Amino acid sequence: MRRSATTWRCAGATVGVVSGTDARLGQGPVRGSWLGAVAMKSRDSGWSSRPGAAVRDRAERRCTVRCTAENGPREPTADACAGVSGGAKVAVGAATFAVGTATGPEPQETSKALDRVWVGFDLGGTKMLTKVYTDDFRELAKKRKRTRVQEGVKAGLKRLIGAIEKALQKAGVSPDALAGIGVGCPGPLDLKKGIVREAPNLGWYDVPLKKELEDAFGCPAVICNDVDAGVYGEYRFGAGRGGRCVVGVFPGTGIGGGCVYRGKIVQGERLSCMEIGHIVVEPEGPRCGCGQRGCLEAIASRLAIAAAAAQAVHRGQAPALKKLAGADVERIRSGVLAKAIEQGDEVVERIVIDAAETIGRALAGVVHLLAPDAIVLGGGLVEAMPRLFVKTVQAAVDRHVLKTFRGTYRVACAELGDDATVRGAAAWARDRILRPDTD
Ligand SMILES: [Zn+2]
Repeated sequence: MRRSATTWRCAGATVGVVSGTDARLGQGPVRGSWLGAVAMKSRDSGWSSRPGAAVRDRAERRCTVRCTAENGPREPTADACAGVSGGAKVAVGAATFAVGTATGPEPQETSKALDRVWVGFDLGGTKMLTKVYTDDFRELAKKRKRTRVQEGVKAGLKRLIGAIEKALQKAGVSPDALAGIGVGCPGPLDLKKGIVREAPNLGWYDVPLKKELEDAFGCPAVICNDVDAGVYGEYRFGAGRGGRCVVGVFPGTGIGGGCVYRGKIVQGERLSCMEIGHIVVEPEGPRCGCGQRGCLEAIASRLAIAAAAAQAVHRGQAPALKKLAGADVERIRSGVLAKAIEQGDEVVERIVIDAAETIGRALAGVVHLLAPDAIVLGGGLVEAMPRLFVKTVQAAVDRHVLKTFRGTYRVACAELGDDATVRGAAAWARDRILRPDTD
């Protein structure tokens, strides 16, 4: 076991920890003599030392520390030592610090923990992506495959299991080392039983995915909504790092939403939730895929934007888009919209801004309900026009929230791209498997 102190990085803060005392943090003891005093450095306020207090503060925020020093000890900066009491011997190394994830200081020192790996899986209608991670979420291998929905459920499951086997093989790890599998899936799920209830994109109905995986690999599996997994990924490793309440919105064909609150995905007893796409924003608005009228996604999804843009082409108002894609909704993808705007199609820009404003207006309601400190926008549409989206959504939320809420949240662009769901699913599985008691 390492006895030196170490630093953790998180959301712009570095935490230096001094060895020498047996202290406790969060839900479990920090093994041996990890924590005695804590010196904290934040981006804004520089170093400060709060022996004991800092440990308590962090415990209250259910922060946990993963004692996985990666780069070995090195001498601390003078700043790091300032205010640390008792002349304790200090050495500082680099490690990972996860806020609010309840991953907990389980015994990372054992060879079992160091050797174990986690698999994340993103199950989409057209492609499947799986990755193998170390216990501290360094990527070891990946495998991408087409889903081939038309081949049916049995073949789909076989492909899924085959993809995981292949990825493990590529990673060069023995199946014994696999500690758990996390899958982000579309469609209503039975979270408790791990059943995909209804995924029209996959042609899957009542598929017991959790059981299939557990039988195939002999380890626990956790399934969750793919958008939830993506928001959790952003919360753990991306734009939502360190947030107390992180809301994610992903406009695509529909508009997906998710929320991580104090380290946990907000879910119902059985169902996933945060269906922000089906908040009604215009009672007399266009018909949504769900059958209701005026849902957010009927007005502001990529599909809705593309349809409005195609009409603009048809009316002769979008010459650049006409050259790029014509009036074919299928061809008006996110990148094409961005290009048309760049090339001067003001009407297209207006359509996108209107959509972003509508999303912002719906989000203002979410802010009133949840008081998030971070709102993460992601998906292809946002990634193609990050500045336009973030700026417009931020302004619209500001305009529509009660004054006291203004300035309490930040709107940010997702950072992980395609990685968010697969990494988030693996990390969520780890949380659920190692700390089921924190549900
Ligand atoms: Zn709807």
